[in-house]
Amino acid sequence: MAEKNSRTCDICNKQFANTSACRLHRVKSHRMVDDITDKRLFDRTSEKARLIYHCPNEKCLERAVKFEGMRNLRQHYVRVHTEKKHTCECGYRTALQKDFIYHQRVRCQLLKLQATDEPIIHHSDFA
Ligand SMILES: [Zn+2]
Ligand SMILES: [Zn+2]
Ligand SMILES: [Zn+2]
Repeated sequence: MAEKNSRTCDICNKQFANTSACRLHRVKSHRMVDDITDKRLFDRTSEKARLIYHCPNEKCLERAVKFEGMRNLRQHYVRVHTEKKHTCECGYRTALQKDFIYHQRVRCQLLKLQATDEPIIHHSDFA
């Protein structure tokens, strides 16, 4: 395994600044896994690729959207597909407590302010 410490890729002859960059390239670009260190590198790089999710709801309008990371998908899912159990006195409804708090602190205050000098504003425009 002399090529292991080489800074030149033995497959495509590309040159690298250091051996680890070269190894990373071999694992990522050529799927070359020679030992446990490469295996870990491989798992890490392919795990990154797996961290892209689609919404599992078949009727979802944003189904084509890819979510980077489980957290973003979960947030979308809760926001769009679950029961909107937080209801503000102004009629705004949301599933996420985070959104609700934001609405009450910021949006709803603005609505109230604007409602005082301009009564013909629809809530839905600001929700
Ligand atoms: Zn290469
Ligand atoms: Zn969805
Ligand atoms: Zn409100």
